[in-house]
Amino acid sequence: MEQYIRISTLNDFIFCPKSIYFHQLYDNVEKGLYQDTPQVRWTLNHTRIDQGNYSTSKDILQGTSVYSEKYHLVGKIDVFHISKKSLMERKSHISEVYQGYIYQLYAQYFCLTEMGYQVEKLKLYSMDDNKVYQILLPNNETVQKFEAFLDAYQHFNPANPSFIANPDKCRNCIYRELCDSAVV
Ligand code: SF4
Repeated sequence: MEQYIRISTLNDFIFCPKSIYFHQLYDNVEKGLYQDTPQVRWTLNHTRIDQGNYSTSKDILQGTSVYSEKYHLVGKIDVFHISKKSLMERKSHISEVYQGYIYQLYAQYFCLTEMGYQVEKLKLYSMDDNKVYQILLPNNETVQKFEAFLDAYQHFNPANPSFIANPDKCRNCIYRELCDSAVV
């Protein structure tokens, strides 16, 4: 049976498939012990949202748990304006719109639409410089790529000897001290 994929790990998987195991392994450990500053800031931003501090409007879902049976995805949305049909994911800082950010939004989009909500706008919001990035809704081509990506995620085997670490990524990886594949 296929495992449910956590939406929060999609970006990590693109960075390095092996990192998702550390992400999940250390998720319940005191985060200050292993997270670098940007990750801590992100966590704090999301904690505020999870606790409902962003808005009390009934028109807004925030930090709501979602899942997709079709894609075996589970996680939380960031902010969804129901009447505006607008889904937003906030980041502490966006220096570049990574594919993983887009796939996180796609995943949330598919969960919400499967739950019966209408979503017409996808946005990324960079909090420290107040920039908004509009993301196109998935089309046939991008859905196919997203599905292939989820399939690769489901079937990734960390013990496969063909896995080759990328030294550039390892140098910037917060799990490098824990990973036996790290090349630094
Ligand atoms: S240390 Fe390198 S191989 Fe290990 S998870 Fe990080 S990027 Fe991947």
